[in-house]
Amino acid sequence: MRDTPAIGAATRVFALLGDPVEHSLSPALHNAALAACGMDAVYVALRCSSRSVEPLMHALAEAGGGGNVTLPHKRTAFEALAEPEPAAAQTGACNTFWLEDGTLRGDNTDVAGFGAAVGALLGGAEGVGRALVLGAGGAARAAVAWLADRAGEVVIANRTPERALSLAASAERGVVRAGDAYGGGPFDLVVNATPLGLRVDDPAPVDLARLEAVGAVLDATYAPRASALGRAAAQRGVPYADGREMLLRQGAEAFRLWWGREAPLEAMRVALGSR
Ligand code: NAP
Repeated sequence: MRDTPAIGAATRVFALLGDPVEHSLSPALHNAALAACGMDAVYVALRCSSRSVEPLMHALAEAGGGGNVTLPHKRTAFEALAEPEPAAAQTGACNTFWLEDGTLRGDNTDVAGFGAAVGALLGGAEGVGRALVLGAGGAARAAVAWLADRAGEVVIANRTPERALSLAASAERGVVRAGDAYGGGPFDLVVNATPLGLRVDDPAPVDLARLEAVGAVLDATYAPRASALGRAAAQRGVPYADGREMLLRQGAEAFRLWWGREAPLEAMRVALGSR
């Protein structure tokens, strides 16, 4: 690790905007990256209301910094952008912002982060075959945005079927449909994009034993203890990654957008405790 400059008048400020933010691992992730690269910058978490999102994005970016946006403000952040990057436009959500040529820019790095996590889980295999996405909220939207171009078929199964239908209908490319997780056929990839797994006593979002065959499981959630889905995957010998991999990879993509250089992945991985 390099010597991090002391906080001074030239220090650039990056912030996570959301509510709540106290639980977030993003400050640990990004401050580890800044320290590893010897950047004169600091990353903090700011709990804020939706009406503060746009002014904070402008203020932070115009002061030489930038930041991330988390629940429940990703849509509000998207609406603050005059020219969203393609992944933000595709998902209607912005989770990363910065200033470029005097203009506020914003992207949704959950899409690239999801893709990089899939690549790491599948060992860099090209294409995915059939994918099952559980959930139809923001994380599912990012997963579907990436999978639509790369999977042979994407099936979205959600507690509220109408939301799965609406997400499938919004896909502009690929073979994407709403369906039942147990509707038949093997899945090369199962994605948990529900919050099930955050709490110790949460049931698994799907019974892996009832699926015909599963190649790998990518979970968007992460918790200090293994989830029911993680335990089921381990019992069946199915490769599994929890949400820290996606968090790490979306953070790495945000770092690249802010600093124009590759992120120090290993230092960030250590900060997340995912070694
Ligand atoms: P969201 O927009 O609120 O969507 C949640 C989805 O999960 C909805 O489709 C909802 O179904 C479903 N759901 C909620 N509770 C459920 C339950 N008890 N049983 C079955 N389905 C349930 O949330 P999100 O932003 O997509 O986030 C989902 C999870 O992904 C969260 O745990 C979040 O922390 C995680 N996440 C992780 C990353 C990462 O980088 N690792 C990034 C983004 C999100 P209904 O439509 O029926 O309400």
